[in-house]
Amino acid sequence: MMNVLPAAAERLKRKWRQKLIRSLPGQVVIQVTDKCNAACPQCGMRISSDFTRKSLAREDVFKIIDAAGDRGVKAISFTGGEPLLVLDDLCAYMDRAGENGIPFIRTGTNGFLFRGSPKPGFRDRIGKLARQVAATPVRNFWISLDSCDSKIHERMRGFKGIVEGIEKALPIFHDEGLYPSANLGINRNLGGDLTRNLDPRDYSDPKDYEQALYKAYSKGFSKFYKKVIELGFTIANACYPMSVDPDQEDLEAVYAATCSENIVRFSQKEKKMIFKALKDTIPSFREKIRIFTPLASLDALIREYGGKTASSFPCQGGLNYHFIDSQTGNTFPCGYRGGENFGKYWHLNGKTRDLQPDCRLCDWECFRDPSELAGPVLDLFSSPLGLVKKTARDPLGVKTWARDLLYYRACGYFNGRSAPDYRRMSRV
Ligand code: SF4
Ligand code: SF4
Repeated sequence: MMNVLPAAAERLKRKWRQKLIRSLPGQVVIQVTDKCNAACPQCGMRISSDFTRKSLAREDVFKIIDAAGDRGVKAISFTGGEPLLVLDDLCAYMDRAGENGIPFIRTGTNGFLFRGSPKPGFRDRIGKLARQVAATPVRNFWISLDSCDSKIHERMRGFKGIVEGIEKALPIFHDEGLYPSANLGINRNLGGDLTRNLDPRDYSDPKDYEQALYKAYSKGFSKFYKKVIELGFTIANACYPMSVDPDQEDLEAVYAATCSENIVRFSQKEKKMIFKALKDTIPSFREKIRIFTPLASLDALIREYGGKTASSFPCQGGLNYHFIDSQTGNTFPCGYRGGENFGKYWHLNGKTRDLQPDCRLCDWECFRDPSELAGPVLDLFSSPLGLVKKTARDPLGVKTWARDLLYYRACGYFNGRSAPDYRRMSRV
């Protein structure tokens, strides 16, 4: 009897938490196509990858969006491949999401259309693109940038001259009332020569390598933020490394953006130092550019990779966040749990009933960051005593979380349809 009661209480608590999570605003990431024209070495969808590419049928995407609207989903992302390869469809999808009352609509580009900026007609061409995208209810439009070194970024993408093109395109987008965000996928080239030449074999003591890594990535992130500010971006986000280790049996990626190449594959210790470098760099730039990456999330990842798993909040993937892949048009808990196929999104009801809110298998920021930010609120209603204990153990963690929220508010919750309020940002 003594053991039965706590077990029953734990079961009840988990059920209640599941219910709470489902009542929070949901999120859907729809991979509209896996076609891509870029050469990125860090991604399984690069142009040289040999597999049969597919785009979702237009009618199916509309059905998914309508079902998401009916489920009360508040955030929808249209990803690729390269979403602008299906530009007209993409704009129709974003309009449909707006008609369904979904306020947080995101999409982006690898920047291929920003090639050829010295040629005549560039301004008109990009003006037309900016007007078309800005006419939809899209809230955030990202442009990928892999390195603070333009040459390296262009080599990785396989697009010569796009950084110059991005710089010229940004004011054109701003004139149309759209403020694109710079999207950095963390990789070994992000800091240019600072980070890409680091080799653990050059260090006899692993601790020295970790320190060198921390220093190099701190400088690399710093150079990256300076670069994107110079280019004219007003929002920046960092995507955590999307590598899946071949020996990580519990993950079966369905999102082909994942890969196991060295350029995005880091050991746990390396990840810890990289997240620490990012966390320590961000505060110096928070008043100069709207940086989405929450410090609370980085804190949690640093602790996680330092061996303190239970202190991070579990991911909501599968419960109220979902991923739809372009190959099958089916729904998965996220881009990494390909073994759990829920079928068509519009038939989802009930299929995820038994999922438990306890996944921490990857660092996919699309799902981990909002889960971490919502964590304390969920704890407050599902496990107030646990929250009190956690706060007592780590009062600084709660302070970081609260400051993130204040900063988010000062940034207008990263509304990519309005200019930043630098005065407000500097006050946080
Ligand atoms: S990262 Fe994006 S742009 Fe690069 S190959 Fe993958 S899908 Fe294409
Ligand atoms: S942590 Fe989230 S995104 Fe990662 S595998 Fe688990 S459910 Fe998926």
